[in-house]
Amino acid sequence: MQIETICSQAGNRKDPSTGAISIPIHHSTTYGHPGFGQSTGFDYTRSLNPTRLALEDTLASLHNGIRGFAFSSGMAAIDAVTRLFRPGDHVLLSDDLYGGTYRLFEQLLRPVGVDATYVDTSNLSAVESNVRPTTVALFVETPSNPTLKVTNIQACAHLARAKNLLLIVDNTFMTPYHQRPLDLGADIVVESATKYLCGHNDVLAGTLVVRDAALADKLYFIQNSVGAVLGPQDAWLLLRGIKTLHLRMERHEENARKLASWLVQHPLVSRVYYPGLQEHPGRSIHEQQSRGYGGMISFEVHSADWIAPFLEHLRVITFAESLGGVESLITYPARQTHCDIPEDMRNRCGVTDRLLRLSVGIESADDLMTDIHAALTSARQEVTVG
Ligand SMILES: *Cc1c(COP(=O)(O)O)cnc(C)c1O
Repeated sequence: MQIETICSQAGNRKDPSTGAISIPIHHSTTYGHPGFGQSTGFDYTRSLNPTRLALEDTLASLHNGIRGFAFSSGMAAIDAVTRLFRPGDHVLLSDDLYGGTYRLFEQLLRPVGVDATYVDTSNLSAVESNVRPTTVALFVETPSNPTLKVTNIQACAHLARAKNLLLIVDNTFMTPYHQRPLDLGADIVVESATKYLCGHNDVLAGTLVVRDAALADKLYFIQNSVGAVLGPQDAWLLLRGIKTLHLRMERHEENARKLASWLVQHPLVSRVYYPGLQEHPGRSIHEQQSRGYGGMISFEVHSADWIAPFLEHLRVITFAESLGGVESLITYPARQTHCDIPEDMRNRCGVTDRLLRLSVGIESADDLMTDIHAALTSARQEVTVG
């Protein structure tokens, strides 16, 4: 089935006893056994919950995988993946990845002996030359956060196969609507469902999907043993969000394309990062592996002094962490999402103190442009006069 159909039908036909179109929210934590040695298939909700299962099946279909897993947050999903590693293992990661992933590897995994190296994964020879005998995995984000650098998933998959590495792709920015890493050879696709999958800034959730049965069994063991599962209410909300994923992603992208080409022309903006721009260095690779450019734009303004007044003057776009919801949000990565990353490493990856990251919502693109223009103009005036 096409992805539009999988989205719209999410959770339907999952409750044969009533025919409910909207899957019931199964709050029960435990399930009665029909007899000794018999089971309905459900026994305890940490192990399996019907609402969560409907979601996990949908996730697997969306990514063309064999099994999906829903966790209480994106970080819980990433944490589950890292429990595949052992002391002495080494992992290669994209150098401008989500700050929380960096924190997990540096502050929780490094002290227990899991080594990590951060490389520019858009440069395949840099990846290859950093593989060691102890390297067990390659963890990439593409487009990356926040500078939207593009990594060639298929090429990474070839390398991973040759070197016997697990290829893990954080696909939060793209969602399965725009990019399906498992089809390109990745072993695990991770998403913070808090973002586009849910899409309404009202659920914290994380997902994993795999295409290999043995790996699925290992991750299921971890999910059930650690217990950071998604609750039934949130699983239902996420299914509800997924029903319109395709429509939302189309509109996010349409708006982002308009805004990116408008920002490029704006006299107060010095640099724009968006994979859909002609001048974006990763554009052609991105086009080979994705069917859209997504709704995330990063841009630099000419002066760091403008940042504070600019953010204060916005009337439609909200200055807030997170992304992927119907409402436009703007963040200041150097102080927010990437504050745990050392300054020299930040600057090397382009996360300067003039950089802003915009999650383009599904409002009128004209209103968003008017908002940015007015706030930037006021900020510049204030700073000049002050
Ligand atoms: C938000 C985010 C995460 C973490 O997800 P949470 O749901 O906030 O725990 C991981 N990766 C990326 C790319 C993200 O944007």
